[in-house]
Amino acid sequence: MLKQQPLSRLRGIHFPAIPDGHAAMQLALQYQLEASQWWSADQLQAQQLLQLRELLVHSATTVPYYQQLFAQHDVQIPDHIDAAFLLRLPISSRLAIQQAEQGIESHALPAEHGGKEYGKTSGSTGRPVRFARTAVTRTFWLAFALRDHLWHERDFSATLGAIRWYARGVAEAPSGASDPNWGVIVAPLFATGPSCSLNISATLAQQVEWLRREQPSYLVSFPSNLVALAHFAQESAITLPAVREVRCIGESLSEAQRQQIATTWQSRVTDIYSCEEAGYLALQCPVSGDYHVQSENVILEIIDEQGSPCPPGKIGQVVITTLHNFATPLIRYEVGDMAEFADPCACGRGLPTIRRIHGRKRSRLRLPTGESQFPYLGEHGDITRATGVALKQFQCVQHSLEEVELKLVAERPLDADEQAIVTEMMQGNLGHPFTIRFSFPEEILRGPSGKYEDFLSLISN
Ligand SMILES: [Zn+2]
Repeated sequence: MLKQQPLSRLRGIHFPAIPDGHAAMQLALQYQLEASQWWSADQLQAQQLLQLRELLVHSATTVPYYQQLFAQHDVQIPDHIDAAFLLRLPISSRLAIQQAEQGIESHALPAEHGGKEYGKTSGSTGRPVRFARTAVTRTFWLAFALRDHLWHERDFSATLGAIRWYARGVAEAPSGASDPNWGVIVAPLFATGPSCSLNISATLAQQVEWLRREQPSYLVSFPSNLVALAHFAQESAITLPAVREVRCIGESLSEAQRQQIATTWQSRVTDIYSCEEAGYLALQCPVSGDYHVQSENVILEIIDEQGSPCPPGKIGQVVITTLHNFATPLIRYEVGDMAEFADPCACGRGLPTIRRIHGRKRSRLRLPTGESQFPYLGEHGDITRATGVALKQFQCVQHSLEEVELKLVAERPLDADEQAIVTEMMQGNLGHPFTIRFSFPEEILRGPSGKYEDFLSLISN
């Protein structure tokens, strides 16, 4: 499991390390995760159900949304719960959780779980699901992120590079930002090499220039951005510097995208399945390339239209139950992705195996110059802060090279002055003076992929 020596915090002691409190806790979690990944499906489920009962009792007594939901469905939590009990619990849609507002938060969080902080959806200006996190959920987030590094045996002494969403002004092109280490996941436990990051609002030409200058060994980005870079390099007859591994985050990765990325960077490609509300859902198996559900963190079900569990090979809706977030419990929450289980993995891990995930696909913004870019839509709450009008949903649709439509599900339509303010803001965010057309629908429906998208381009690529 550990191929690299952890850092010791005692003077004069190098080996074996005596780590500090945080690092010791993370190493203790890895020790348990190293064992539990090999448990049988039954053994894993037994522990999940014990943890689930703790969460259900807490939710039924301290979270208004679940108090009401469980009363409506006459849910009584028995002393011992089994898998069949889980299947009888009501499913909550994203919209139901969103409409519950503060009712989805616990009013009596155990003090040991640490203070609340609020999740912020990257690149989404509309109102996302409001979800709080705690020190405990952060601890688990760090642990599963570290597990991904350990599974794939990454060399921490190498350079880590990321092209991803950051707020305006952070890691902007051309220089990006650099750090002496790999940051909060790895650096408190292991000596690492440097890391560098670039805001995904950079043009493709700027990204190429940055990659050539920084030469990261590991590259992290969104699949849609990596594929756009691959096309750009091909069209411009540029060879991009090879990397050891490209890591995909934030969107679903198709097999065609995977192959194109692997060819462009002459590298292996790994993927992560996560969501903003729950963190890591599945990591790619280092042996088979399928995905393993992070069962110590989440119960992940795949169900058909009738609500019955799908057998391996059948595509259905992903429904998750987060096991450790007592601030905003998500119990049988429809995350909006489709996926399909596979048979148990050849690697021998007991963690359930997912073959395919049909999740978020992101369109790129097309500019009249012929270039395309990652659509920067501003930050959550921008429109409300500028106009005072609360938003329920937001979607930006590019109809042509000149026109972009803003669909706002708002408490009331914006008046002409407010539209002028938002037009100027969006033109700045999108980086081009598009004509902005407003519409105020009652609801924004999910796209054909089943996922709600905050940006759509109707221009064929
Ligand atoms: Zn496996």
